[in-house]
Amino acid sequence: MMPFAQADAFYARLAAANPTPKSELTYCNPYTLLVAVVLSAQATDIGVNKATGPLFATVSTPAAMVALGEDKLAEAIRTIGLYKTKARNVIALSRLLLDRHDGQVPETRDALEALPGVGRKTANVVLNVAFGQPTIAVDTHCFRVANRTGMAPGKTVLEVEEGLLRATPARWMEHAHHWLILHGRYVCKARKPACGTCIVSDLCGYGAKEPG
Ligand code: SF4
Repeated sequence: MMPFAQADAFYARLAAANPTPKSELTYCNPYTLLVAVVLSAQATDIGVNKATGPLFATVSTPAAMVALGEDKLAEAIRTIGLYKTKARNVIALSRLLLDRHDGQVPETRDALEALPGVGRKTANVVLNVAFGQPTIAVDTHCFRVANRTGMAPGKTVLEVEEGLLRATPARWMEHAHHWLILHGRYVCKARKPACGTCIVSDLCGYGAKEPG
């Protein structure tokens, strides 16, 4: 695992370049964030936003989603992969929010993970982004950056998440998830990491640094 001071400097550089990183998913309240994250599984944020932009303009609560119904929701999100399964899950989770949580998105991991289509990663995003809790959602970009840089190496998503929670200084926890994702998406890319222009190159433990 990366030493504390090195990880602190790593985040400080990312923070200086982008002080308040934001989710690239479009949402207007905790509920639409939850729905957008559920829809984003195996899909791009841009693709999800294209469908949810018009949808969330008129449907932004569990009650409105249930009123819309599964067939119309599926039609509205048909450009997103696995849309039929996702439409079923979104309607089911919206019903559960109404039945068990008074139409509100719960602020605990257990309650979130009990919702259809919501796994650990989705719960981590919602807890962090909507409620400011110190969680780190590990997606493919975050997993790669944690392993390549040596910040928190691990073979499984859970191992990396637990490593990142230990390696990340408290002052960076709020935005750690977004900094790592954005760094992986735009700089430390899967096929060709841009090590030559990377602002944390001297702090990174990747042995086979690429030139550009
Ligand atoms: S130096 Fe290269 S491998 Fe290391 S974080 Fe930057 S882009 Fe990724």
